[in-house]
Amino acid sequence: MGKILFWVLLIIGGLFLSRILAHYAARKRQDNEQAKRTAKGAPSIAEEMVVCQHCNIHLPRSEAVYDREQTWCSKAHAKLGVRN
Ligand SMILES: [Zn+2]
Repeated sequence: MGKILFWVLLIIGGLFLSRILAHYAARKRQDNEQAKRTAKGAPSIAEEMVVCQHCNIHLPRSEAVYDREQTWCSKAHAKLGVRN
């Protein structure tokens, strides 16, 4: 009788422990996904788009080249100037 009680308690204990571990794993995964989402979403919301005056391509302001108070996609296009 004592042996059966031992095994029942061991199985219940094992199930309880696995439940707790699964809960913590799920929580950790959720936190990681949320951190990834905020890191990915932040720049696209704030980033303003500008147009290259030579080829009319749209690019983020942080990647644009500034010359003669105008925006360009590259130094080569800034050198070429406005295309007619
Ligand atoms: Zn260009």
